[in-house]
Amino acid sequence: MQRRSFDIMPRSYNVAQVNRQNTLEEESQLSSEEIPSWKSHLYFVQKRAPKPQRVVCTKVFEKRPSYYGKEYHGLIPRDEAERLVMRCEGCFLTRERQKEIGTYALTFRINNEAKHYRLYYDEQEKQHFVGEKRFDTVHDLVEDGLITMYVEYNEKDYISQMTLFRKSREIQNQDNYYSHTDGDSKLEVDNNDNYRKPSGSRLIQNSFKASECEKKHNFQIHSFPMSYWCNWCHDFIWGLKNNGYLCTDCSFECHKQCRDDIPPTCSPDKKRVKKIFEVDLTTLIKAHDLRRPEVVDRCVHEIETRGLQMEGIYRIPGFADDITDLKNTIDKDGVVPNISEEIVTDINVICGLFKLYLRNLPIPIIPFDLYDRFIESAKLTERLDIIKSLSEAVKSLPPAHYETLKYTCRHLQRVSKFKEKNLMTPENLGIVFGPTLMRAPDHLALEAVGYIPYQKKIVQFLIEEQDVIFEK
Ligand SMILES: [Zn+2]
Ligand SMILES: [Zn+2]
Repeated sequence: MQRRSFDIMPRSYNVAQVNRQNTLEEESQLSSEEIPSWKSHLYFVQKRAPKPQRVVCTKVFEKRPSYYGKEYHGLIPRDEAERLVMRCEGCFLTRERQKEIGTYALTFRINNEAKHYRLYYDEQEKQHFVGEKRFDTVHDLVEDGLITMYVEYNEKDYISQMTLFRKSREIQNQDNYYSHTDGDSKLEVDNNDNYRKPSGSRLIQNSFKASECEKKHNFQIHSFPMSYWCNWCHDFIWGLKNNGYLCTDCSFECHKQCRDDIPPTCSPDKKRVKKIFEVDLTTLIKAHDLRRPEVVDRCVHEIETRGLQMEGIYRIPGFADDITDLKNTIDKDGVVPNISEEIVTDINVICGLFKLYLRNLPIPIIPFDLYDRFIESAKLTERLDIIKSLSEAVKSLPPAHYETLKYTCRHLQRVSKFKEKNLMTPENLGIVFGPTLMRAPDHLALEAVGYIPYQKKIVQFLIEEQDVIFEK
């Protein structure tokens, strides 16, 4: 958590920033952390940017677009428009284009140069635009353009220094990220799960901490309309509209220029990640600070308590409406309700819920980018080669996926141990769980039908050989 300290206190700082950062708990964390200094240089540069000044036209036009004001000059040549705006920085006017009657242009002066843009108007939204950004008034559009062009023109070198700064910081950050040592995990380990720390070099094979799982930010373009600072380079975010990015999972704010260099260290906020189903697995476990999604643990617990000896477990479908009701309740409340036998009598509903959860993951447990790699393992013919290849493949899984897959396979192995009673052999479970645990990426959609037997084989191996494939 970071606090902003600078000699100016913009309005948005009071409202948007302090409120969300000033809880007592966070205050105590702050004292032990380095407090970044928020750089206000670009803030003052933005303040110096020329203000829009319309060049007023007093002529009366028979026909004129109602959405332009006194800055409208009718059909005047481009060089005349240029002459008119050259009076001072920030001068602007609108005009009809000679090139194409019935279309309009905007001319304004910035950095001693006249700029001409084709100007559009969205009748439905009642908004003006020359590019992607839309504005309620031509004045706002010009104001944003003036700021953006003024800052980027006059501070070119400074902005490229920002790049250098963040490159060095990125390297430093990644070093810190991977050099953590084993520590006590806050996470509870399920009684059914004899999890032990595996020996190995990967992050997941040290002590598992949800908070340390890599996760990309979920950046959306955002308008920071007043005064905001980049959480990454600590510099001012200039401009008025669509001037930066906001992560919808953790509210991280940054420049457009910084976005692509930010490492995958998003810490989603539980309040922002409301649903459980259809939420990215890493996002969910980080938001809830869990080793695995609660719904997985609860379903497995219930099935192992009362379903292991049930004939056709996982094969016989549960009543679809009951499954949907349960899913909706979980999504609404953000927690799994009581699903014990007294409440949910049919164990097939729980099995259905578990399969639905896995099937609805936006990125399957075996993610799209590793699909090929797993299929290639299944194409091998020697059993030992397959096991070796799969053990390598699972090491590439993101930690949240690795943990959930390992736990699921361990559970399915327990199910298969009762195959005399429930008739679910690892092969049968492979048929059921193949398409649940992996889905072909779009570019392999055509071949995917032919891969169904491989999917089954992969799951079968993951179940039968789980204690070899997944490190202990
Ligand atoms: Zn984020
Ligand atoms: Zn930045």
